[in-house]
Amino acid sequence: MVNSEGNRMRVGIDIGGTKIVAGVVGGDGVVVHSKRIATQTEKGYDGVKEDIIRLVRTVLDEAHIAARAVEQIGIATAGQIEKVSKKILFSPNMGWRNVPLKDDIENAFGVKTCIENDANAATYGEWKFGLKGVPQDVLGIFIGTGIGGGLILDGKLYRGFSNVGAEVGHTILNPYGYRCNCGNNGCFEAYCGGAYIVERVKKKIEEGYRGKIFDLIGGDIGHLHTGIIEEAYLLGDDLCVHVWQEVIEYLGAGVASLVNLLNPQIVVFGGGVIYGTKYLIDEMNVVLKKRAMDASLKGLEIKKATLGENAALLGVSYIEE
Ligand SMILES: [Zn+2]
Repeated sequence: MVNSEGNRMRVGIDIGGTKIVAGVVGGDGVVVHSKRIATQTEKGYDGVKEDIIRLVRTVLDEAHIAARAVEQIGIATAGQIEKVSKKILFSPNMGWRNVPLKDDIENAFGVKTCIENDANAATYGEWKFGLKGVPQDVLGIFIGTGIGGGLILDGKLYRGFSNVGAEVGHTILNPYGYRCNCGNNGCFEAYCGGAYIVERVKKKIEEGYRGKIFDLIGGDIGHLHTGIIEEAYLLGDDLCVHVWQEVIEYLGAGVASLVNLLNPQIVVFGGGVIYGTKYLIDEMNVVLKKRAMDASLKGLEIKKATLGENAALLGVSYIEE
């Protein structure tokens, strides 16, 4: 089956710790049909792999497309991908080590399959479809529970010497800073990742803090999220002013360091924390302008991602090996 431009359809798969999404993608970068399932990590690699194969069969059937008519299958997943074997070296949210998911999917469908780190895939998707592939140097920063990043340099996805570069979230902003899930201290993610921010506010409330934030969440810690922390900050809640100002300062400083290093034309921001807050990017931008070098700021554009949660799925269905 071909779309109106005569391009063959593609399939993108986005594997997350809570859900797996598979989508059929048309030549113009539009997801024509998609379906999601819950990730059952407890089934282990073989069980989840079978779930993914079944999910892809279902979306193809429902879209009335035969597997042999598919140009490429793309898999976006958290974790690092080995350069030559394309095995997933380690995926922290799935608990997988050295799994040959790319080969297994390729063998199941007989379709050329590509696998990519999810933040790289999302950056590529935003670049190719959101920005139409025009700017040659783009930094993608995706802030959700943690921070993922991707680089388009000289018009190409940059992965680094061993394929494991662009770990924006583990840029160290303060060697004596907050503990990061990677085992290090003071990573960008430990300061600005959504889960870490929520955890800092949660801890203070558990220790007895009562302020506007406590009223906003109706006294229920389960209702804490970064959007509501920003709201409390805007209302002048002491705790949230302290926490959120720190987030803004570190985000601005972190982006300034990366902008000084890479001199991108565009920094594109995505992820749940970005979509769920009102002024974070604008306030970050004020700090960025104070902290980055003038020459690096010249012509720099700060943009919000436009593809939402389809970015990785779309990107990876088009990435060439
Ligand atoms: Zn880290």
